[in-house]
Amino acid sequence: MENNYDVIIIGAGPAGLASGLYASRAKLNTLILEKDKTGGQIVTTDEVANYPGSIEDATGPSLIARMANQAEEFGAIRKKDAVLDIDLEGKVKTVKCQNGEYTAKAVILATGANPRKIGCPGEIELTGKGVSYCATCDADFFTDFEVFVIGGGDSAVEEAMYLTKFARKVTIVHRRDELRAAKSIQEKAFANDKMEFLWDSTVEEIKGDGIVESIVFKNLKTGELSEYQAHEDDGTFGIFPFIGFTPTSHLFKDKVQMDEGGYIVTDDNMKTNVEGVFAAGDIRVKSLRQVITAAADGAIAAVQAEKYIDNMN
Ligand code: NAP
Repeated sequence: MENNYDVIIIGAGPAGLASGLYASRAKLNTLILEKDKTGGQIVTTDEVANYPGSIEDATGPSLIARMANQAEEFGAIRKKDAVLDIDLEGKVKTVKCQNGEYTAKAVILATGANPRKIGCPGEIELTGKGVSYCATCDADFFTDFEVFVIGGGDSAVEEAMYLTKFARKVTIVHRRDELRAAKSIQEKAFANDKMEFLWDSTVEEIKGDGIVESIVFKNLKTGELSEYQAHEDDGTFGIFPFIGFTPTSHLFKDKVQMDEGGYIVTDDNMKTNVEGVFAAGDIRVKSLRQVITAAADGAIAAVQAEKYIDNMN
């Protein structure tokens, strides 16, 4: 009996935690499942300047810790368990995890998105060995080293700026000759002495024996390849790809409707095409993927789950 809930929320980023808060406040017996760490992408962010009411120096991890505590205070149960399979058909939904099986009347899918990979040789092998997708987590390792940031969007430029606090030089490598990032962010980057730009370029290969030692760039205008080698006194350097995200939705493939990119299709009430199954946050088709929109989705999904359950009884 103890594994039966009213609502199971899969994912503990801002969408999942906001769902947990609203569902538990509505007195629903609520389980929030998280895979390994609470928080999703936002915990990889050093500064959360655009969440209304954010206090100065608010970090991703501190915001998430407050959200998680708030959900728990209202009675939401949080468990660390990896979802292996899920049965969303019928009135009782079953979530099969590494450590057991849980059932619920309603499910909220809030597993978010993951950093997109460059897809070049060496990237996966050297992840954690010079290649990182989290500046907040790993910037410190590159104190006084050189760093390359790949991408030209808000994430790439903001994270590159953060990395300049540690690295001696940060080069943004972008496939075009113009950044996508907001103009206000660009201005700060262009004014930063430690920042350089490599335009019209992509990464062809990352090389190294157990640690990043060199990177091969391709100039898209000339087709020319060039290889940057670690300075011999350093022996290595950092590579931080920030080239967008892909939804973490493989577990729900063929179970709920998705678009061609793997994002879950919902209506304005966060309802998927399956009765009693809702989606919230970055995992769903939407125009703006931010903490504020994830949290709002979470609140709506929980309120709709409550209505759905009320109507079942
Ligand atoms: P994004 O806006 O999709 O930008 C991705 C960047 O990576 C683009 O510059 C893109 O180049 C480049 N790119 C994509 N695929 C690539 C590939 N295979 N090889 C090389 N480069 C590639 O992603 P994001 O910066 O992660 O931002 C995601 C969302 O979060 C956006 O809506 C953004 O506004 C938001 N965000 C907001 C803030 C903020 O407001 N403070 C901070 C972070 C993120 P092209 O430009 O040529 O397409």
